Amino acid sequence: MKILVSVKRVIDYNIRPRVKADHSGIETANVKMAMNPFDEIAVEEALRFKETGVATEVVAVSLGTAACQETILSALAMGVDRGILIESAEELEPLAVAKLLAALARRENPGLVILGKQAIDDDANQTGQMLAALLGWPQGTFASGLRLKVKRIEVMREIDEGRETLSLKLPAVITTDLRLNQPRYATLPNIVKARKKPIERLTATSLGVDTTPRTETLKVTEPERQRRQVMVATIAELVDKLRYEAKVI
Ligand code: AMP
Repeated sequence: MKILVSVKRVIDYNIRPRVKADHSGIETANVKMAMNPFDEIAVEEALRFKETGVATEVVAVSLGTAACQETILSALAMGVDRGILIESAEELEPLAVAKLLAALARRENPGLVILGKQAIDDDANQTGQMLAALLGWPQGTFASGLRLKVKRIEVMREIDEGRETLSLKLPAVITTDLRLNQPRYATLPNIVKARKKPIERLTATSLGVDTTPRTETLKVTEPERQRRQVMVATIAELVDKLRYEAKVI
């Protein structure tokens, strides 16, 4: 079975994002970029399936500018077999990404597509769900555990009421939760080997997909600063503070 994993290039999660001066978006020039953390978990899970012999090939795909090749290289250095870059100069919305991944899945015929549950830049949490709908495949979102069975996969999910286990028919779409695994670091020999692995370059046109945006970002602003928080020891102290110190903002 082949596994397709999507790896998005995002601002490194250790970096505090800055809003552009014209409020049109987030500054990405000269900012450290990295693989979306949920996608590292997707890569790790796919590699574990390969190591236990249930997967035969793991393919990583990234969509965006030529710089996304770095993200694919990181996946190859973790142990992925080959990469695919779907190049686009314009920003791709989750729907466009889902349509492109669907076109690729129809070409590659994987048994599983594993995505992150959300990209930490847009926090959309849409792509996996839309991909499953476009393909007509079952979906197991926010997976915190996976167990492969004959022609099926069991997906453990944490929900408000407790823990849910779903059984999906393959091929299926999975999105990863943080609890699924602890991704490995790439070793130095694997980083060197990654440079020799193949990366195919495609475009939306070559896949016959229209990526015209459906939404427009009107304005991006900094989040409001957290208000000062005070702990009180007693109800009497709380009442006193409300009476004499609290102000209506
Ligand atoms: P989102 O729906 O934007 O929160 O993204 C959910 C997941 O879809 C991410 O964790 C990635 O696995 C995948 N994804 C979204 N955009 C891209 C992209 N440009 N390149 C690769 N994967 C992507």
